Amino acid sequence: MGQPGWWRHRTFYEIFVRSFADSDGDGIGDLRGVTSKLDYLRSVDGDHPDVLGVDALWLMPTFPSPSYHGYDVTDYRGVNPDYGTLDDLKDLVREAHRRHMAVILDLPLNHTSDQHPWFVSSRAGTDGKADWYVWSDQPQGNGWQASGDRYYYANFGPGLPDLNLRNPDVTAELTADATFWIGDGGVDGFRLDAAKHLIEDGATTENTPETHAWLQTFTDAVHASRRDTLLLGEVWDNSKVSASYVPDDLDLTFDFTLGTAYVMAAQSGDGAGLESLLTNVTKLYPSPGGFASFLSNHDMDRVASQLHSDAGQLRVAADLLLTGPGVPFVYYGEEIGMTGSKPDERIRTPMRWDGSSPAAGFSSHAPWEALSDDAASVSVVGEMKAKGSLLEHYRGLIDLRAKHEALWNGSWTAVISDQPGVVASLRVAPTETALVVTNLSKEPVSPTLSLASGPLCGRPNVSGAWGESIHVAPVINAAGGFDGYRPVDTIPPQSSLVIQIGS
Ligand code: CA
Repeated sequence: MGQPGWWRHRTFYEIFVRSFADSDGDGIGDLRGVTSKLDYLRSVDGDHPDVLGVDALWLMPTFPSPSYHGYDVTDYRGVNPDYGTLDDLKDLVREAHRRHMAVILDLPLNHTSDQHPWFVSSRAGTDGKADWYVWSDQPQGNGWQASGDRYYYANFGPGLPDLNLRNPDVTAELTADATFWIGDGGVDGFRLDAAKHLIEDGATTENTPETHAWLQTFTDAVHASRRDTLLLGEVWDNSKVSASYVPDDLDLTFDFTLGTAYVMAAQSGDGAGLESLLTNVTKLYPSPGGFASFLSNHDMDRVASQLHSDAGQLRVAADLLLTGPGVPFVYYGEEIGMTGSKPDERIRTPMRWDGSSPAAGFSSHAPWEALSDDAASVSVVGEMKAKGSLLEHYRGLIDLRAKHEALWNGSWTAVISDQPGVVASLRVAPTETALVVTNLSKEPVSPTLSLASGPLCGRPNVSGAWGESIHVAPVINAAGGFDGYRPVDTIPPQSSLVIQIGS
């Protein structure tokens, strides 16, 4: 993708291959299926009326695995035969690149499957693999599993034994596996699963100094092979911990606190907590685009279920994600309002492409998992040309973000509103300054905004980039901010304004 940092201006899309599109009618989604749907995600020639507009893909694990989800790998250089072949994956990457989309793979390094040949050998003490996993003669506490008269550490369950990442042979092998994919496979980076769990130290099992050090070594080695490879970590923790991995150990980490807060703010209609959280989060990470943002992922109840399919709440949650700081990730189906609540299989159900039987366009066969419990109208075809649909809203926001550097690269400074349901910020990037105002509440509001101090000067021009048209510019005070600015008479319920402020 050229230069490190290519990810900063992109909107990512998380795909569970098993559930996206089935090309061969066996009821299981596959890589050719994903390739066949790339035209929905992004067109070859830029603008097109029927594309979502995302420009990077995160594929959930594509490696051979005995489980349906694939987070327990049996071959780090292979492709799950349910999903296709290595050539199918290379084709997908090539076709994505033709559309100027990046592709990152999901790499679970903390553990393998207990059916991985490495673990089979390790258990038998053969092939020089005895020390490739974490063994003990005594159980040491939580996470230890019996195997004969010995024990192995498996934080995520007996079928997912932890690799011994203190063993340099293991580190060398995993590093070579990663460089295989960025070389031969052509992929642009990795999402590193369970990144905070890599190396345990006695009772301390998370975020150990050795885990940080291991990631830094791994990242440096992968970057030495290809400098522009994205290394993105799943550090499911508070923002301070998650930010502590960036930029030395990883290029980006997901901020889990913010995602939850966005959904809660959309639900409550109250922006007060969100404003202080955003101030805090954006200070913790090294740059405005220094973290990955999202509303939900494959481990959480879908946003539409959390928000009870409330159309206004879903729209304003999307506003927060796609006008906010960080590199945004959309979970497949989120853009059409697909519902799903745990157990896990039910938050990973087949994509709803249209209203047809037996599988909403996902497959010609009965799908591997029943469809979500949504009306037939919740589908790509049902929403693509429907004015006011959630999909149209996502398309518009993704396009807006791509076109405005202030949104993807701007600093974040809270702007104070006199309305509790409003969250507002000034976003300053090298080529653009914008004011973003979101009305979370169910009522139209007429907020008065103030910024005690800032970088503004003179008598700026304003123009509306999103929402109501803007005619009134703020009067800049001596400190470069503004007081008592009322940009519009009303902001409709659960909607946003993006105002470009120029000189
Ligand atoms: Ca298939």
